[in-house]
Amino acid sequence: MPFSHHSHSGQFCPGHAKNTLEEMVQTAISSGMRVFALTEHMPRDEVDFYPEEVGNQTAESLWDLIDDFYQEATRLRMWYGHQMKILIGFESEWIRKSSLRLVRMLQAKHDFDFFVGSVHHVHTVPIDFDKPTYDRARMAAGGSDEKLFGDYFDSQYDMLKALEPQLVGHFDLIRLFSDEPDGGLKRFPGVWQKVIRNLRHVVRYGGILELNSAALRKGLKEPYPCLEVCQVCYVKRQPRPNCAVLTIAEQTFQMMGGKFAMSDDSHAVDQVATHYIPLMRFIAKAEISAICHLNQVEPPDDYDEYGDDSEGSIDRPRRWPKASVSCVCVEELFEEAVDDSPSEDEEYQQ
Ligand SMILES: [Zn+2]
Ligand SMILES: [Zn+2]
Repeated sequence: MPFSHHSHSGQFCPGHAKNTLEEMVQTAISSGMRVFALTEHMPRDEVDFYPEEVGNQTAESLWDLIDDFYQEATRLRMWYGHQMKILIGFESEWIRKSSLRLVRMLQAKHDFDFFVGSVHHVHTVPIDFDKPTYDRARMAAGGSDEKLFGDYFDSQYDMLKALEPQLVGHFDLIRLFSDEPDGGLKRFPGVWQKVIRNLRHVVRYGGILELNSAALRKGLKEPYPCLEVCQVCYVKRQPRPNCAVLTIAEQTFQMMGGKFAMSDDSHAVDQVATHYIPLMRFIAKAEISAICHLNQVEPPDDYDEYGDDSEGSIDRPRRWPKASVSCVCVEELFEEAVDDSPSEDEEYQQ
């Protein structure tokens, strides 16, 4: 896998990840990764602690942890940056009203290159922790997967509007513990309308959808987002020149200007760059023609994130000054993957 924009380490995500941040970086380099983003979870208030954090962490200690992460990530980039492009970011949360304030506090504190915009909670209950907790969220939503999915995509829409993340994390994570994780989203027409609304918004503000292979690692048949989402078709009304009649054209997410990027969402060294070939097969099936990746860029010296000369304000800083987007043709990635894979002889010797 040449690019991954989403990872965690046991050093800074002690509850549910393994290995040090340096081991994650070293493994990414040795697996041939060209761009690797370090994106630990943002701090949460104690009311939103996971069971393993209760009694072991405080809200303050989570802030200390992310401060230490930023320091260590910066050191690792100086040390290993000539071998692999390293981006330093975080994964945001969208739990309750205070989430926006916490994201802004974190952005003001450190000079992150970008962040992954994720939703892991609905009605303040985690939806990807385990099945009993998912069931609790489902009860809070009214008792059905359809209702919970609808509320998830509403919450995601609020997040997208408020944060406009450069990368949208695991777009349909809500499938993970549902009764039919591979059942698709179109079977719930109301939910599907919300999916389309959210995708349109991502295109409108220029965000990138993450193709997250963690779903494959967890046994789902398709990555996040699933095939239906990647192949979504919008009906677009187009005025014809010198003609009052509108034509109706179908446009896919890509045709609308939508972009995709890859992530392994690794939580340990043995998860770095895994499931790349199945992910590439999926990309071919979804007829995705280009894959994007981020590059760290230095904003100009006189750049003022909150300056008056822009749309920026303390509540709404200017977007994405530190990460540019490059796109690679999928065909090129396929050629590289074939070149990198062992020949039949080598395979036989292994
Ligand atoms: Zn996540
Ligand atoms: Zn994550």
